[in-house]
Amino acid sequence: MITGEWSGTMNLTEPQAGSDVGLSSTRAVPQDDGSYLITGTKIFISFGEHDLTDNIIHLVLARTPEAPAGTRGISLFLVPKFLLDDAGNPAERNDVKCVSIEHKMGIHASPTCVLSYGDEGGAVGWLVGEENQGLNAMFTMMNAARLAVGVQGTALAEAAYQKAVDYAGERIQGREIGGDTKGAVAIIKHPDVRRMLLDMRARVEATRNLTTHLAACIDMAGSTEGEDARGWEERVELLTPVAKAWCTDVGVEVTSTAVQVFGGMGYIEGVRRRPALPRPAHHPDLRGHQRDPGHGPGRPQAPDPGRRRSRTCSPR
Ligand SMILES: Cc1cc2nc3c(=O)[nH]c(=O)nc-3n(C[C@H](O)[C@H](O)[C@H](O)COP(=O)(O)OP(=O)(O)OC[C@H]3O[C@@H](n4cnc5c(N)ncnc54)[C@H](O)[C@@H]3O)c2cc1C
Repeated sequence: MITGEWSGTMNLTEPQAGSDVGLSSTRAVPQDDGSYLITGTKIFISFGEHDLTDNIIHLVLARTPEAPAGTRGISLFLVPKFLLDDAGNPAERNDVKCVSIEHKMGIHASPTCVLSYGDEGGAVGWLVGEENQGLNAMFTMMNAARLAVGVQGTALAEAAYQKAVDYAGERIQGREIGGDTKGAVAIIKHPDVRRMLLDMRARVEATRNLTTHLAACIDMAGSTEGEDARGWEERVELLTPVAKAWCTDVGVEVTSTAVQVFGGMGYIEGVRRRPALPRPAHHPDLRGHQRDPGHGPGRPQAPDPGRRRSRTCSPR
């Protein structure tokens, strides 16, 4: 996976278990050889099936037979698309199938799949970490993903802002208030358009400050020790869900404002237009990231920071 020859997925969501992962019912039954047989259905799995890589490593949340109810009974399993031969090469197809691909509003380059495990008896998987500690294990990966998704909010908002500024400087329409009334001017001269652009810029910079600050906290947590390190870690725990949820929320608002700056052209799909014009697709792409709580839901995580603050979060 590190060389990019194999890719990976995270499998949390099920039809009856979205934000509330504790409702998941995928089963993992231990076998004599130390492996487990996995059965169940996972939905919305990003890059769940494709032929871009030789193998796909699915990380799957499932319950062992005696597991307690709720999130305390969830374990994490590694389930490859292809089982390996003695030489370590992908060989026999495992019992996991893509049964459909979602038709999304945006993020079209990412196949979002419904995966069925165990239609022919059970997909072979191996426990990652300890039994019933699956959510902790999954969150190691999800926390990195949540910061990355927050940065995508900033990035798409910045792209939309830059294109809006360029367009506002080129598009000639209307007379300037208090200016020369003879000729039409670029729309960037109009106070309301300037207001929209300034609003977009301020929001983009605020999200960039938050994600950069969070990245610095992560570096500090990794390069300090003892109480100091714990203080930085607490700050990271507090800010990670905020960065994911808030930066993608702001991204949705900023890309929506960009559509307004482009007037009617903002509502037209890109194929017939110059590449410099905005992609209205930025907006649905961000809607997807905002909704893509596969990387940690937005609002359902809102209580996280509250809970964390109510513990002893050392003020810095
Ligand atoms: C593009 C995309 C990619 C995805 N990729 C993956 C993936 O790779 N792996 C994976 O496992 N899943 C993935 N998901 C699924 C994602 O994790 C779920 O959509 C998410 O967990 C929300 O579940 P749900 O859709 O069932 O919504 P629901 O849980 O039904 O929520 C519906 C609404 O209720 C709100 N809500 C629910 N509970 C609460 C609460 N306690 N407090 C406040 N509000 C609440 C939600 O915010 C939402 O607005 C992906 C989704 C999308 C859209």
